[in-house]
Amino acid sequence: MSGPSSDCLFCRVVAGEIAPDVVRETDRTLAFRDISPQAPTHVLVVPRDHHPTIGALTAADPGLAAELLAAAQAVAEQEGLATAGSPEPGWRLVVNSGPDGGQTVHHVHLHVLGGRGLTWPPG
Ligand code: IMP
Repeated sequence: MSGPSSDCLFCRVVAGEIAPDVVRETDRTLAFRDISPQAPTHVLVVPRDHHPTIGALTAADPGLAAELLAAAQAVAEQEGLATAGSPEPGWRLVVNSGPDGGQTVHHVHLHVLGGRGLTWPPG
């Protein structure tokens, strides 16, 4: 599935119906600040097309999945969490998938988190 869905929150963000705090955008991806940040930097990276999960996206359009990953790295560099040559100070990439994964918005999104020391394991 890749067409916009009127009952999908992030399709509405991509369409501009809900104004995002945009950090970075490309033809096929959009990165915006999470409304409830869990770290000093908390940015969500989404494909403009609707795909419900990372598995669905990877199956339907692996090239777009790779673009999403590259967009997350670019956001981390833009936010000062890493450079092209070094992973320092460091950051975390999270993709929640399905009920046990804690996914609440069913339009695939990558969480870029950083700006503080992050603990492990997650809850
Ligand atoms: P999930 O739990 O991995 O599905 O993450 C969904 C994320 O979307 C959560 O971190 C929410 O805080 C975030 N979120 C929900 N609504 C909005 C919004 O309108 N703008 C930005 N982030 C949102």
